[in-house]
Amino acid sequence: MNRLARCFLLVLLDALAQSEAATQQPFRLPTANHALFEPGSEEKFFVGTVGKPWTTGRFGCVRSDGRRMHEGLDIKCLQRDSRGEPADRVVATADGAVVYLSTKPSLSNYGNYIVLRHHIGGLEIYSLYAHLKRVREDLKIGQDVKAGETIATMGRTTNTREGISKDRAHVHFELNLFVNDRFSMWYRKAFPRQRNDHGEWNGQNLLGLDPRLVLLDEHQQGTNFSLLDFICKQTELCRVLVGATNFPWLKRYASLVQPNPLAERQGVAGYEISLNYNGVPFRLVPRAASELKRELKRLGLRGGNRGEKNVLRG
Ligand SMILES: [Zn+2]
Repeated sequence: MNRLARCFLLVLLDALAQSEAATQQPFRLPTANHALFEPGSEEKFFVGTVGKPWTTGRFGCVRSDGRRMHEGLDIKCLQRDSRGEPADRVVATADGAVVYLSTKPSLSNYGNYIVLRHHIGGLEIYSLYAHLKRVREDLKIGQDVKAGETIATMGRTTNTREGISKDRAHVHFELNLFVNDRFSMWYRKAFPRQRNDHGEWNGQNLLGLDPRLVLLDEHQQGTNFSLLDFICKQTELCRVLVGATNFPWLKRYASLVQPNPLAERQGVAGYEISLNYNGVPFRLVPRAASELKRELKRLGLRGGNRGEKNVLRG
């Protein structure tokens, strides 16, 4: 091939790659198991808990007769090595950066796990991949990864007494919003006798969205999918009134704030926050002092300490 033709081919390939990137949806499944998108094939996708159906591998209050929450998806293994151990590649669900690697399985029921940070449609979202056999050796905190890039090998690591049997090998996959930069400080005070080996990357500081619903919504909507819209249309469980105007969730998730002209005119004295059924704050409405006062009166409550003005309502 002459130089001109080679040059033309390279330009063409580059343009093709760019147009593919532009039309790509933000999230993809973290392994080659795509049975989630085949209606009726859930059993090929989810791994249930011991002796329980596949439904216990979904996200939500799916365990212990609905009393125990599972904050991710348990995705079935497709490939085994000669010893029957899981061998599936685990890939980044979206473009992002590595924020945490835990490679001491004895320190968590997640076993070996990875957390990636993604910026999608103006929102910070964190994916988590757990029970890994091996984290890719050259992966470092701060490193950028591309959607679909291999980050680990599936495994069955955990620190629980019962462990994970070979036949239940899976990757536990989460999509989370990040709660608070001062989690470790709070945890030390709240649980002085308990260890926190993972700092801010403790699972309790991550609030899960249902990855199944995110992926199915994206699959259905194609390039029209919007993570912000997905979060905004969550079903409301309750609202909380807070007499504060400067808190981490507000700063990190400012795009979830809805306009309120009255509060903008009179001055914002607090927020009314809507929580979904998993406790994820998904809508924040600024409230003027007059609105907060009226609301407290309606609920038959007297305003006290600013810090104690937080009220739950059904
Ligand atoms: Zn799980």
